[in-house]
Amino acid sequence: MLLSGPVCHKARPIRLPDTLRRGADMLPFVPLQPNRHAMPDILLSVDNLHKSFGARQAVTAVSFDLSKGQTLGLLGPNGAGKSTTVSMVCGLLKPDQGEVRVGGQLVGQGNNTAKQMMGLVPQDLALYEDLSARENLKIFGALYGLKGAQLKSRCAQVLDLVQLTDRLADKPTTFSGGMKRRLNIAAALMHNPQLLILDEPTVGIDPQSRNAIFDSLEALKRQGCSLIYTSHYMEEVERLADHIVIIDHGQVIANESPAALYERLPARAALRLTPTQRLPDATLQQLRQQPGVSEVTVEGEDLLIALDSAEQAQDVLVWLTQQGCRAAQFFTARTSLEAIFLTLTGRSLRDA
Ligand code: ADP
Repeated sequence: MLLSGPVCHKARPIRLPDTLRRGADMLPFVPLQPNRHAMPDILLSVDNLHKSFGARQAVTAVSFDLSKGQTLGLLGPNGAGKSTTVSMVCGLLKPDQGEVRVGGQLVGQGNNTAKQMMGLVPQDLALYEDLSARENLKIFGALYGLKGAQLKSRCAQVLDLVQLTDRLADKPTTFSGGMKRRLNIAAALMHNPQLLILDEPTVGIDPQSRNAIFDSLEALKRQGCSLIYTSHYMEEVERLADHIVIIDHGQVIANESPAALYERLPARAALRLTPTQRLPDATLQQLRQQPGVSEVTVEGEDLLIALDSAEQAQDVLVWLTQQGCRAAQFFTARTSLEAIFLTLTGRSLRDA
């Protein structure tokens, strides 16, 4: 099990002992079904979607909900069925079975009310390269019926949101990859949708552009917009998502909050320290009995202590100090979403 993300002292990826890894691999992966009646503010309801391409079953019984103002991270290995699901959610693909509702409106069957409530940021850029940023946005706004002062003011708002106001007269041909992606997002926002669906919007761009996109998405969240965010980058989903749906082999295998996902692992944090002197075996035995300690492993000069939560690291350090143990260095780490993802979906390559 990989751990990353320093909690208090020093960043360094660490690996938990094999026994612990095996424990994680044996977790029962029963998807938790949220109680729909307990979620009165549901904006999007995806119900029992099925889709086959010839003999290939791409999506089977996919269901999830999204509340107003919330962000849903949609994760899954290559070929898992994410794009097929997103296409059905947007009404671009007709499900064989099941239905999608946005704001209570059925998606598909020419229902423009449902479409009006959604904006899609496709992975492939959908921009006119020979038109300026502003002209691009005007076209997208006009497609949704905006005109005159309303169209002009919306252009200004979305350009400001994606931090491209100073480039409004420039053509996308002069833009970096990150700027094009930001303009792509702006285009999907012209009609002020309640739900924005982003299909891997940060593929192939530098960290600064990625950060700028995140700033825009966080601003959108503050304005109450709901988001569906599809990505391979776990740390992005961790930063944005209130709720995570993991799809594998066309089926939902997790549908819960990030906190609930972390709860699935037997050890959620680890403390690694390098004692200045080797600890007696008796002290190691006592350490294993301390509250919150699930496993202690000696790795070379280091002690690797698996913990139920990162908060327990401090108590363990105090206890070790009381036993006369001095640490030359220590750091803590919590289980990463990536570790959970790999635990749930396995490590085999899907597109090999
Ligand atoms: P993901 O977006 O998670 O990578 P997709 O939804 O694109 O997965 O694909 C799910 C499965 O459906 C894959 O096996 C893929 O090959 C298949 N698939 C997707 N679209 C088509 C299509 N138009 N025709 C045939 N098979 C498809």
